[in-house]
Formats: sequence, C-alpha cells, structure tokens
Amino acid sequence: MEATWPPALAEHLERLQTRVGLEFPPELLTWWTLMDGFDDHGAGNRSVELIPKGYLPLSVARAEEEYARQSQYPDPGCCTPEGTHRKQAGADGFPYCTAVLPIGRAIDGGLLCVDLRQGERHGVVMEWYASEGIYDSDWASVTEILDEIAERLDSEQ
Ligand SMILES: [Zn+2]
Repeated sequence: MEATWPPALAEHLERLQTRVGLEFPPELLTWWTLMDGFDDHGAGNRSVELIPKGYLPLSVARAEEEYARQSQYPDPGCCTPEGTHRKQAGADGFPYCTAVLPIGRAIDGGLLCVDLRQGERHGVVMEWYASEGIYDSDWASVTEILDEIAERLDSEQ
C-alpha cells in the first residue's frame, strides 16, 4: 500500500477497550494498528473514497467519542442494565446497542460499526443511522473491508 498512516496508540486502544468492556476481535486490533483513522472534520477527498459507501475510518479517539454518544441509547430489546445483551451479533437494533463499536463515519451522519455481541457472527460489520438503528452491512468483518481497500489501492497504481 502506498498510503500510510500512523498506527493507533496502545494507550488509546486500551482506554477504549476498558470503556467498552468487551473483547475486540483480532482483526479490529489489526485495523487500528494499520491506521488510526482520521479526524473526520478535516479530512481530504482521498480518505472519503477509501471505504466504499463513503465511510471515513475513525481514529480510536474519535471512535470513543462516537461510542460515548451513542451508547447512551441502548436497545431496550437487547441491552440489559447488567451489561449483557439479549440479541446476538448481527441482529438489528434500535436505537443503538452498547456492544456495537463505531469504526467509521459517513458524511451524512451514518456510522460503520463492529458488532461485539456474542454469537457466530461476533465481529460482523454493521451500519447505523439515527432513523434506522443498527442493521447488517454487506461486510462479514473488517478484514473484508481491508481487502477491498487494498484491492482498490492496487488497481489505482
Ligand atoms: Zn445490546
């Protein structure tokens, strides 16, 4: 890959992991080791095109901000006061689920998220919009997105 970004700081990742309180799948750690996303307020055009569907990768610090904001609105059908979840990874939810972690943000306000709930689809990529809640994306994991980015960068050369 021609484009490179600084990796996420280990202390940022640890802080986020402590806040979320759930284990991150290894590919998510790889994701943030490869690039610590962007400050999406000042990003250029190239980065906007990086993830299909117009998502911009979030830095760990920005992911924590988004998580803190959205996790105030747990899905009453999923998230319990004890911190467990009735639904499994990959299930739709509204307004949000506190086991779902934002990793990307779209210009129009949508979020690209990793589902940290238990189940066969642990680590599946979900999308979120305020009007829709969380729902399944076309990506099984962030590894698939990384593969798409790599292919795209290769084909540009
Ligand atoms: Zn939940």
